[in-house]
Amino acid sequence: MHAFAYARPATLAEALTLLEKHGPDARLLAGGTDLIVGLRQGAIRPAILIDLKRVAELRHVIDEVDGRIAISATAVMAEIENDDRVGRHFPALVEAAHVVGSVQIRNRATLAGNICNGSPAADTAPPLLVYGAVVVVAGLKGTRRVPIDDFIVGSHQVALERGELVTAIELPLPDRRLGAAYLRLTRRHGTDLASITLCCAVDEAGTTRLAYGSVGPRALLFIDESGVLADPGAPAEAKEAILERVFAEARPSPRSIRASPEYRRAMLRVLGARALRSAIERLAGG
Ligand SMILES: Cc1cc2nc3c(=O)[nH]c(=O)nc-3n(C[C@H](O)[C@H](O)[C@H](O)COP(=O)(O)OP(=O)(O)OC[C@H]3O[C@@H](n4cnc5c(N)ncnc54)[C@H](O)[C@@H]3O)c2cc1C
Repeated sequence: MHAFAYARPATLAEALTLLEKHGPDARLLAGGTDLIVGLRQGAIRPAILIDLKRVAELRHVIDEVDGRIAISATAVMAEIENDDRVGRHFPALVEAAHVVGSVQIRNRATLAGNICNGSPAADTAPPLLVYGAVVVVAGLKGTRRVPIDDFIVGSHQVALERGELVTAIELPLPDRRLGAAYLRLTRRHGTDLASITLCCAVDEAGTTRLAYGSVGPRALLFIDESGVLADPGAPAEAKEAILERVFAEARPSPRSIRASPEYRRAMLRVLGARALRSAIERLAGG
């Protein structure tokens, strides 16, 4: 592994000062489950690693404040899986967090790291899109809040400027009753990155939000306000026609070792219909 300096700041101001000073030569370390792999492979060659785990303002916290749940940048998947408020309001995020890697990975991997890494296959991206998450970004000049749909830019590209880091991910508490489901397709049971990730939520007013990933450079969100997708009595052909348009935006890579574009496109339709059915049933079941 290439040699690098290591810093363990105790405050956010210290972390941001280091980040500003070193710019692209610095990498932030949270759980390290993506970063260490990249370092080992030589794909990442930073001059300095800035460890966020001891930053006082970023300590492992999931909090409910002003109508939203804020998940701090060091909160890990296992904490998200076990948090009652996240489970009650955002069950599809819990379903996604629950399938990330293995128990060992989920005890280290942060939600912020999953999103900042920018993998098109990140399991938590579709539920965060569906639930309208907001990414809290801090720099020496201040804090800004970026909707997740604007934060995810492309494959391994997110909307962070030089000197910025993510301090939290916020989820607005839904103002309507929702039914939601997360599904993914993998080559095998157990630890594997997904060939398709997909989340669907329907609400009592008839709006459907559907997001999918791992079939193009970034996860995509679609909102159907026609009421057709959410209507348990709507004809299957009408729903299929809408889903066909939704999935037309998929751009699966022909070079992927995980699944062919044809298989991914076919399975998108299967998972889409399945997640929609499950979301409708969950809404009906309360
Ligand atoms: C064996 C294995 C299995 C895996 N399985 C899955 C899987 O099934 N599904 C899945 O989605 N992922 C999977 N992953 C990937 C990984 O676990 C997740 O992406 C994880 O959530 C990353 O979080 P982390 O805290 O480990 O991030 P790190 O590795 O510490 O960081 C990842 C990237 O984000 C940046 N970063 C981290 N925190 C911040 C911050 N606060 N602000 C700005 N930038 C930041 C880092 O600089 C780095 O570029 C797997 C990884 C391994 C090794």
